[in-house]
Amino acid sequence: MKQNISLKNYNTFGIDVKTKSFISIKSKKDLLEILDLIKNHSFRILGGGSNILLTKDFYGLTILMQNKGIRVLSESENEIIVEVQAGENWHEFVLWALERDYGGIENLALIPGSVGAAPIQNIGAYGVELKSVFHSCKVLDLESSSFKTFDKEACEFGYRTSIFKNLLKEKIIITSVNLRLQKKPHQTQTSYGSIQNEIKKRPLNIQNIAKAIISIRKSKLPDPKEIGNCGSFFKNPVITIQHFEKLLRTFPEIPHYPDKKNKVKVPAGWLIEKLGFKGKRYGNVGVHKKQALVLINYGQAEGKEVLELASKIQAQVLKVFMIKLEIEVTLM
Ligand SMILES: Cc1cc2nc3c(=O)[nH]c(=O)nc-3n(C[C@H](O)[C@H](O)[C@H](O)COP(=O)(O)OP(=O)(O)OC[C@H]3O[C@@H](n4cnc5c(N)ncnc54)[C@H](O)[C@@H]3O)c2cc1C
Repeated sequence: MKQNISLKNYNTFGIDVKTKSFISIKSKKDLLEILDLIKNHSFRILGGGSNILLTKDFYGLTILMQNKGIRVLSESENEIIVEVQAGENWHEFVLWALERDYGGIENLALIPGSVGAAPIQNIGAYGVELKSVFHSCKVLDLESSSFKTFDKEACEFGYRTSIFKNLLKEKIIITSVNLRLQKKPHQTQTSYGSIQNEIKKRPLNIQNIAKAIISIRKSKLPDPKEIGNCGSFFKNPVITIQHFEKLLRTFPEIPHYPDKKNKVKVPAGWLIEKLGFKGKRYGNVGVHKKQALVLINYGQAEGKEVLELASKIQAQVLKVFMIKLEIEVTLM
């Protein structure tokens, strides 16, 4: 266990705050050994730190999940069920599946972070969400001090959310995730326009879909190793049809996608861009020049500066579009 260390290298925003204590977890045994400490102190779990905004020093225990391992649990003619330990890197796991020709997660290539965090917000990209391949996950339930299994239904997955981000926040630790991956013939999802354009150049298979997505993502999103960010800072808002029709009168070009009954999803990036924030810098922070949904740290930012910019954007979006933008990243 380390004491009083900076978390700058443990969050992709690159925010420099301290934690009083810090421990790396490499196995379930490691976790059980610190169970009493967890139950009696304030603690927080970190994977890749790619979906959090650190706003202040933390006077508790930061637990970094680094347990590794990938194991095929069962195999049939059409699919496999694979158990992946929480500390595995998500993108490396996607590459593992692609090398073996297992499909279902190719659209989720290059999403940063750990496998254990993937169910927390039901990661999604290019028309696919984790829940489409999710089988179950194993968690340490801190109340009962026992390991429990959550199936898909129990996880209450929604758009960038799950029971772990709500009711069970800070009450469980995900230790491994089981996913159901397809063997050939794969059912692919290439309906996003940008994938269609990229894939045209190559034969349609899961490896080429992943290549297309990696290339699109690299061209649009800032690499956290070069510039601090957390991907999308806000969720795409879902509004009623009536509200949307009202907006259409002033903004006939507003992009939109059908959502649940009588609801429409509007890209938050478009709203932010329309208000002129795209590419703007405010001191140490700013809005990315290629993707207005991404807030960036120019190097020395404090979490509160990112939050101030986020509030400014939220206030303008509310004023002009009457939409309350919800923050996607977890504030700590
Ligand atoms: C450039 C960039 C692009 C991105 N693109 C996407 C995208 O396309 N789609 C998308 O969905 N997300 C995207 N993200 C967000 C992020 O990559 C995902 O949310 C990812 O799953 C976070 O994983 P992590 O290990 O970094 O989680 P962390 O940031 O470390 O943690 C996130 C939350 O989960 C909790 N947590 C982490 N691990 C565990 C565990 N084992 N048990 C219990 N709680 C845990 C933490 O306490 C915290 O509340 C992007 C981020 C970046 C920087």
